[in-house]
Amino acid sequence: MSRFTHFRFPAAADADGRVEATIEIEAAPETVFFETRDAVLQACNEAFAALTVLPSMRVGNDIQIEGPISDAFCSNFDVICDIYRDWLPALHRIHLVGGERLPKKSTQQRGVGLFFSGGVDSSYTLLKHKDEITHLIVLGGFERSSLQAGRFESAANSVRSVARELGKTAIVVQTSLRTFLASYRLPWGPVAFGAGQAAVAHLLSAHLARVYMAGGHTYAHLLPAGNHPLLDPRWGTETLQFLHDGLEADRLGKVRRIAQDERALAWLRVCGHPPAGALNCGRCEKCLRTMINLHVVGALERCTTLPHEFDLRSISQLEVVNINHQVYFEQNIRALQGSAADRRIARALQRAIHASGRRRAIRRTAQAVLPGPYRFLRRMVRGGETAQKEGEAFGRW
Ligand SMILES: [Zn+2]
Repeated sequence: MSRFTHFRFPAAADADGRVEATIEIEAAPETVFFETRDAVLQACNEAFAALTVLPSMRVGNDIQIEGPISDAFCSNFDVICDIYRDWLPALHRIHLVGGERLPKKSTQQRGVGLFFSGGVDSSYTLLKHKDEITHLIVLGGFERSSLQAGRFESAANSVRSVARELGKTAIVVQTSLRTFLASYRLPWGPVAFGAGQAAVAHLLSAHLARVYMAGGHTYAHLLPAGNHPLLDPRWGTETLQFLHDGLEADRLGKVRRIAQDERALAWLRVCGHPPAGALNCGRCEKCLRTMINLHVVGALERCTTLPHEFDLRSISQLEVVNINHQVYFEQNIRALQGSAADRRIARALQRAIHASGRRRAIRRTAQAVLPGPYRFLRRMVRGGETAQKEGEAFGRW
């Protein structure tokens, strides 16, 4: 017997610019909100189908649609499900049912959006398409750091200041979508955040005819990811095009482009754990990786948002948590073969890769030999972190 996901949403945002949807996937209804003062949110079936596709696949529900839904979106939906199932075989095959399939129409003049965090990928895409892009979208409640009280303001203020400087419109959206998706134990980085961005883009469809999603991989190193060239274009409708960007440049190439622009060196925000009031901590893996990138291209001293020095010990103690990280580390190692000092940094990165590999092997052995005590110890160490909920069920990458 089929089970169904249902959602209900208001016809228009309320006076505070808030759209709150009620979603029924399992027994108890849940609410997910989106709120912005910078744009008019247009609630639509495409947004909530994108938001609920992964949780519905997780539990095996078809998605019940009421009212009109884009014909183009429906045509792509099966392929979106196929891609997710190939990445996460534990997910179920589902369908969109009901609704009235119609081509979307728009006569409005609309702009070109970019999901912009201030990081390397989205900064590169902004500089590359800066004459075309009209709106910079930043999401509170999206990155893990923005879930903490007071951590999102610096990021949002920075994006507003970039938008002012470049003559763009900033759209700051607060949302609870990450918390909603996390409750279904979906891996955020490798998969789920792209569906969340797609939902937000559809809510902004009164303002956007096209939206860029900046990817983190190159043609040579494509891996499952929330933003992916096979997936991103399939979120579109007849009137809203999704474009994946950045496949031609590796991280060093992107940083080299960013280093040509002093403004970008003053807005760069890569950190997942910034202290209150700051854009970057200067100590975590992403900060150190980017500082090494900037050092390689000779621009670290000109970057005003990261420290200008790093020590080899901190680098050799970095955790290489997945194949994504290892690709980034190896790019830096290949580029650090010039001076003796650079080769020392490369050796520290190599030590981090080897030590992380040894730790992963020990964890895999412990998990296989003593699964019960391993899970208990892991819970004790990590507590109830969102990351654990998001990733543990699908520890494929
Ligand atoms: Zn950091």
